[in-house]
Amino acid sequence: MKKNYLLTPGPTPLPPEICESLSRPIIHHRTPQFQAILKEAEEGLKAVFQTKNDVFMLASSGTGAMEAAVVNLLSWGDKALVIEGGKFGERWTELCEAYGIKPIVLKVEWGKGLDPAVLKEYLNKEHAIKAVFSTLCETSTGVTFDIKALAQVVRETEAVLVVDAISGLGAVDLAMDDWGVDVVVCGSQKGLMLPPGLGFISASKKAWKLVEESKCPKYYFDLKSAKKAIDKTDTPFTPAIGLIIALNEALKIMRSEGLDAIFKRHKKLAEATRSAMLALKLELFAPDAASDAVTAAKVPQGIDGEKLVKAMRDEYGVTIAGGQGEMKGKLFRIAHMGYISEFDIILGISCLEKVFKKMGYDFELGSGVKAAQEVLLK
Ligand SMILES: *Cc1c(COP(=O)(O)O)cnc(C)c1O
Repeated sequence: MKKNYLLTPGPTPLPPEICESLSRPIIHHRTPQFQAILKEAEEGLKAVFQTKNDVFMLASSGTGAMEAAVVNLLSWGDKALVIEGGKFGERWTELCEAYGIKPIVLKVEWGKGLDPAVLKEYLNKEHAIKAVFSTLCETSTGVTFDIKALAQVVRETEAVLVVDAISGLGAVDLAMDDWGVDVVVCGSQKGLMLPPGLGFISASKKAWKLVEESKCPKYYFDLKSAKKAIDKTDTPFTPAIGLIIALNEALKIMRSEGLDAIFKRHKKLAEATRSAMLALKLELFAPDAASDAVTAAKVPQGIDGEKLVKAMRDEYGVTIAGGQGEMKGKLFRIAHMGYISEFDIILGISCLEKVFKKMGYDFELGSGVKAAQEVLLK
């Protein structure tokens, strides 16, 4: 007998209320019944995005919302800056290039955050940058960027700040309006506790000016059509009805826990996980900018990282993530994002310990679990 546990940074586990809502019969979308749900979900999303701007719901994975940001803000030949500190930062570069926009790339060493002074230098040096593309939680490295500080730099320029918050939103703080973030994109399968399939995007007034001027080709992701529809509590195309119904349930759960309590829970789970990694004599990959949504640790010498992840999953049913891109086989990542509680983390760490022992890694059995428990007892 094997039970399955999901500790990956997307998809994340589904609460039972969400599973139940996903099993309901479908309803038609051009009805007052669905409109009421759409309206409630929209309000709930605004609370999670911490914004008064519209939040558009797209039937796509998170990358669709990223693509929507690029094609709605820019035109061929525009200048953009990409903060690239991992695989998802690279995605912004690739998306820009796909539309004939050659971005200036501000490379950040994987596992590190970005000093806002460095961004300021770039923006002073390069004029006419229309958009700065960044990432809240760089899921591939376990870094959370200091978006509040970066926004302070960008808001003093003509450029708009675009944040890929696909894996951070609903786990760590991102106060869109208060911090002056212009565009936030998100996906459903990370902090929002849903299956994949919904993309979200919200744009400030400053960003909307660019939306009106943008000449990039677009059709499905045209935010001007989305805006016309949302003003009538509608969507331009058939929405992902079932997922939006489930989203509404997820937002209710989030509302009842409260954003501050959610951030606190994630922080505590992250601290417990990091403490366990150190007790297991492992090196954190992002010690100075560690994310409260996902922890990345280096695979110890002599251990095959891919085998580690595979054994945890295939022998014990505990799915964590390995490294991506240049860190393949060298990292493992434990997510504590969304519908995750203390004992999910304890379970994950105990499984990690068991597989480490079987693979011959030398450490004191139980030391990781003990360190995590000590943090969680505080
Ligand atoms: C998961 C993730 C994405 C990609 O989203 P998809 O839903 O797979 O398209 C983009 N950025 C970050 C930071 C992510 O964690």
